[in-house]
Amino acid sequence: MWGTPSKGGGDSRVNEMAREAEHRPVGVFECQLCALAAPYSYVGQKPPDTQSVILLEESYVMKDPFTPDKAGFLILGSRCSVCSRLVCVGPECSLFYARRFCLPCVQENIQAFPREIRQDLEKRAVPARRPASQPSSQT
Ligand SMILES: [Zn+2]
Ligand SMILES: [Zn+2]
Repeated sequence: MWGTPSKGGGDSRVNEMAREAEHRPVGVFECQLCALAAPYSYVGQKPPDTQSVILLEESYVMKDPFTPDKAGFLILGSRCSVCSRLVCVGPECSLFYARRFCLPCVQENIQAFPREIRQDLEKRAVPARRPASQPSSQT
């Protein structure tokens, strides 16, 4: 019973979403779990300028600025199939298992996922420690 994407939240300034495949940015994708924000140019399963690419899910896509080739595109993220939050495809924000799940939803329903996914998540759960302000050991 998740499948009714209605207007959630209180965002009243959302216009009707343009469905056309535009080549210029049509909006800014913002991950609701991390601070990622990037302009996207397409939402859907078949990015423009790609010959035979069909994405497994409706995704927020931007043209890859580093690929001169027209077919270059980047998937920024998509909507969690459970809570319909926008999440990026980063391993700390979501995973794709038949559909897109944000990590909080995965954690809530972890028993519904196969062991390999759980193990994968356990690996991810290890906090990425960055030696940000590590004092250089002087000898
Ligand atoms: Zn994110
Ligand atoms: Zn979710």
